[in-house]
Amino acid sequence: MTPPAHGADPLMAPGISRELARSRAAMISNVRYEMSLSLAKRDTARGTVNVRFTTARSADVVLDFRGPWLGSVRVNGAELRPEYNGAHLRIPARSIRSGGNVVELQFASMIAPAGASIIRYHDARDNNDYLYTLLVPSDANALFPCFDQPDLKARMTLSLTVPATWRAIANGITERVDSAGALSTYRFRETDPLPTYLFAFAAGPWTRFSDARHSTPLWVRASRSHEVEVDSLQTQVASALSSLERYFGVKYPFQQFQYMLSPAFPFGGMEHPGVTMFNEESFIYREPPTLNQRLGRRATIYHEVAHHWFGDDVTMRWFDDLWLKEGFATYMAAKMQAIEGLPNPWMSFYLRNKPAAYDVDQTSGTTPVWQSLANLDQAKSNYGAIVYNKAPGILKQLNYLVGDTAFRAGVHDFLTTHAYGNATWQDLLTSIGRAANRPLTEWGRQYILRPGMPVLEQRVDAANGRISRLMLVQHPAQPLSGKGVWPMRTEVVLWSRDSAPVFLPVEIQTETTIVTAAKGRRADFVFANANDNGYGLVMLDPASTHWLSEHVGEVTDPLLRAMLWGAMWDLVRDARLAPTAFIAAAMRELPRETDEQIAAGIITRLSRATATYISSAQGRDLVGAVETALLRLGSDSSHPYGIRKSALDAFIAMAKTPGALATLSAWLDSTSTAGLPLRQPTRWMIVTHLVERGSVHADSLIAAEERRDTTSSGKRSAFVAYAARPTATVKRDYFRRYFADTTLNEEWTTASLRGFNSSDATALTLPYLVPALDSLPWIQRNRRIFFLGSWLGSFIGGQRSAEALREVDRFLAEHPKLPLDLRQKVLQSRDDLDRTVRIRAKYANAESLTP
Ligand SMILES: [Zn+2]
Repeated sequence: MTPPAHGADPLMAPGISRELARSRAAMISNVRYEMSLSLAKRDTARGTVNVRFTTARSADVVLDFRGPWLGSVRVNGAELRPEYNGAHLRIPARSIRSGGNVVELQFASMIAPAGASIIRYHDARDNNDYLYTLLVPSDANALFPCFDQPDLKARMTLSLTVPATWRAIANGITERVDSAGALSTYRFRETDPLPTYLFAFAAGPWTRFSDARHSTPLWVRASRSHEVEVDSLQTQVASALSSLERYFGVKYPFQQFQYMLSPAFPFGGMEHPGVTMFNEESFIYREPPTLNQRLGRRATIYHEVAHHWFGDDVTMRWFDDLWLKEGFATYMAAKMQAIEGLPNPWMSFYLRNKPAAYDVDQTSGTTPVWQSLANLDQAKSNYGAIVYNKAPGILKQLNYLVGDTAFRAGVHDFLTTHAYGNATWQDLLTSIGRAANRPLTEWGRQYILRPGMPVLEQRVDAANGRISRLMLVQHPAQPLSGKGVWPMRTEVVLWSRDSAPVFLPVEIQTETTIVTAAKGRRADFVFANANDNGYGLVMLDPASTHWLSEHVGEVTDPLLRAMLWGAMWDLVRDARLAPTAFIAAAMRELPRETDEQIAAGIITRLSRATATYISSAQGRDLVGAVETALLRLGSDSSHPYGIRKSALDAFIAMAKTPGALATLSAWLDSTSTAGLPLRQPTRWMIVTHLVERGSVHADSLIAAEERRDTTSSGKRSAFVAYAARPTATVKRDYFRRYFADTTLNEEWTTASLRGFNSSDATALTLPYLVPALDSLPWIQRNRRIFFLGSWLGSFIGGQRSAEALREVDRFLAEHPKLPLDLRQKVLQSRDDLDRTVRIRAKYANAESLTP
C-alpha cells in the first residue's frame, strides 16, 4: 500500500478518534445502510453496502473500514479510487454534494473463531457451524464500511445469503426468504435507528422456540436445544419486558424482541435489538443450578432487556459515558425484581456489585465513572467494575437521595426527551434534578467525575455501656481522589441483641460527622451503611469488630448480615483483622447460615483466606480443618442444595491433604459426591483439581474423562484441565497458543487462565508474569472487552509473593510510556497482590500475634 497523501491527518489515524467522531456528527445526518452479505464461504464474507447520508455542506467524508478487502467504490454514481489506508477511506469533497449522497462499496470481512467481527463456532458433535456477530464497541468497521460511532445512528436494511439448510436472524423482522439451489437469501426489514455497535445477525442451523403466549422467539443451536428451560426463560423475558415498560412509561422501542443462546460467547449477554445474545454456557445448566446461578441468570436477562431502553433507545453519545447504560441496566434489573416482589433483591444486588466495585475503586488504578476516551480503539479499557458495579451502586445512592417519585419521573423524562437519540450523563442529571427540584451538579462532580471512593471510619466512644459519641470520619481510599468529601445520605444502625435495631438517617457533608442522635443509646455494634444506600467502604470500630467476630450470625436481617460479613472481610483485606480470626468466624457460623447467597459468599472468602492469606505453617493446622468443615457442610442433607453445592465445590477446589485428595479420586468412581448426584461439570472440576495438584495420572484422568464426555463442553473442559498441569512444557505450550493459535476460541482461553495460573504452580508461572504484561497492547488490539481484565486477574492474581509484586512494580517502572488505561488495569490487579503480601507479612509470619 502506498503511504497516504494525508498521512499526518489525525482523522485518518487508526481507530475512531473523538475528533473524527465530533466532526462527522456535526456534518453528517440521516444515515442509512443497505447491505448485502454472503456467508456462503467458510472464512470470508463478501458484501456490498450502499451508505446513504446527508451532509450539511460539501467536504471530505471519512468512512471507517478495516476488513481484509475493499473493492470498487462509487460515489453518487461515479467510480472513485479514494485514499484508503486500511483503517479509513476518504471521499474527497469534490465528490460530495451538500444534501443527499450515496457511496456504494464492495468489501469482504473475516469469519473466524476469534479475532473477527463474525464469530464462527464449530459444533464438533454434529459438525455444524454457527455464526454470529459481536461488534461492540468498535468492530462494526471490521465488518463493513461505515461511520462507526454511537452518535451517528442509522437505519440498516440487510440481506444475508446463507446455505439453504441454515436460518438467519437480524435486528429487523424477516420480510422474505428466497431460495436458489443450495443458498437462501434472507431479507430483513429496515431497522429502527441504531448505533453501529448494535447491528447484529446470526446464521446457522439454529433451533427456534416460539409459542402462542410469547412473541419472543428463542434461538438455540440444535445439539443443545433439548436441554434449554424454554418456559422459565420465556416467562422471565416476558416479565422483564412488561415490568420495564410499566416502570419507564415508555413502550418497548423496537420492531421485535428475539434472543439466542450463543455458544462460546465471550460475554454474559449483549443487548442487540432483535438478536439479543446470552451466554449459552451460563444459561443451560449441565447440573442442577444453585439459587445463585438462577438469580444470576435472571439478573442477566433483566439487565439485557433494560438495555433496550437504556443504551439501545437512548444511547451514550460516546463510550466515555458507558456507565450510563451499564449502570442503569444493572440497577434496573434489581429494581424490577424489588417491584415484582422477589425476596431480598437488594441483598443480591449488594452481593453482586458492591464488593466488586469496592475492590477496584479502592485501588490506585481506579478511574472516574465517566472515563475520558480519546479513541474508540481504547474503549475496551473502559469496561470493568467501575461501570458495571460502581455505577449501579451510585445510582442507588442517587435514587435514595432524591426519592422514588422524582427518580422515576426523571428517568421517564430522560427517555422521552432523547428517544432514538444520544445523551450524556449531564442530560440524565438534568432530567432527574428537574424532577427532584434540586441541582445535582455537585453530586455529579463527586460521583461521576471524581476518581476513587470514600472510606467511612466508625469511631465510637462509650461510657457505662452507652454511646457517648459516635463519629463517622470520611477520607478518600487513595490519594488520587484529592481532597474533599463525597456528600452522602446514609442510615446508621445501632444494633443490640435485646432490643429492636435503631436506624438513624445521616447526611454526610463534612469530613467528620457526629451522629448526635446516637448519644446515650446502647449498641452491641454500629454499622454506618444500613440498607446499603451509601457508596463507601465502612471500617468498623474495634468494639463492633470484636462483637461481630463472635456473633455476626445472630443478626437476622439478611442484607445487614451480608454487609457485615463484607465489612469484616474488608478489615482482613486492609490487614486490620487476622485472616485466622475470619476463618474461625466463618467455620463457626457456616453450619447455621441458612441463606444460600450469604453462605456462598462466606465460603468464597473462607477459601481465599485459607489458600492465600495464611502461612504454610498455619496451613498445616488449618487446611485439614477447613476441608473437614466444608465436606461436613456439603454432606449435611438438612442444608439447602445451594449451600451444599457451594461447600462441595469449595472442598474440591481446596483439597490438599492426602485424605481429601483420596476422597476426590474415590468420587470419580462413584455416582455421587457426599450424597449429591455427581454430574459432568463437577467431574471435570475434580479432574482439573487433581491434575493441578500434580496427580501422576493426569494424562489418563483427562483422557478417560474426554471419552466419557464427548460434548463440545467436554472438549472445552479438557482444554482447561490440561492448562492446569504443573509442568514447564505445558505452561510453555499454552502460553504460545494463547497468541499463535487462530483456531482457539477466546472463551476457552479465558476459561483456562485460572488453571494455568494455579496457586500450586507459582514457580512455573512466575516466569510468564512479565511476558503476560508485555503482551497487553497486543491483547488490547486483538481480544474482546473483558479479556484483558481476566488476563491480568489471572497472571497477577495467581501470584502471592513479594517477588512477584516486585516484578510488577519493575515492569511499571520500566514502562513509563505504557498507555494510561493499561497502567490503570495493571494497578487494579496489582492492588490485590499488594494486599496479599501485606497480610502475609503481618499475620502469616507472626503466628503468636494471631488469635
Ligand atoms: Zn450491559
